[in-house]
Amino acid sequence: MRLIISHLLQSELIHHAKTGYPHEVCGLLVGRGEHILRVIPTENHAPDTQRGFLISTQDLNIHLPQIRAEGLSLIGFYHSHPDAPAIPSPTDVRELDNGLQLPHVVLSISHHQVHIKAWLIHHGQVDPIEWVIGDAAPILPAPPTTSAQRIAFLWSIGISLILLLIIALTLLPPAPKLP
Ligand SMILES: [Zn+2]
Repeated sequence: MRLIISHLLQSELIHHAKTGYPHEVCGLLVGRGEHILRVIPTENHAPDTQRGFLISTQDLNIHLPQIRAEGLSLIGFYHSHPDAPAIPSPTDVRELDNGLQLPHVVLSISHHQVHIKAWLIHHGQVDPIEWVIGDAAPILPAPPTTSAQRIAFLWSIGISLILLLIIALTLLPPAPKLP
């Protein structure tokens, strides 16, 4: 397992972590497969934001439908560790083992030095996963065609055909008078 991110998106992550310092910041990693295509910062709802982070289910409920509507998926989470290494803390291991099997990216920020590492926490086990910086443009998914969009399209064709017919009929010369 690995995660691939562009330079631009990685700098967005770093910017978020730096502007939040000395508080922990957190957010969602959105994309397709192993490609991170969007980073969504979320509010840290932890009681002590200098020593922990919490992404609220309310925030997830707001973002998830939007993510799905874009044809993307939630592929991971991120949070920062001000003045601490980029490894999951014992609290992280206890609380992030949520059965979702989604990677957790930890950004360590200290003295303006940034280290980023990605982890998979599962059944109390913490495994590092590859963090790849790649600017090769990932293939963006085509916008989803919902049945509503298809119906709207068919309707528009139907209406234009009817309009054409009406115009054609009004342009017809009057019927010749019968002798
Ligand atoms: Zn942590």
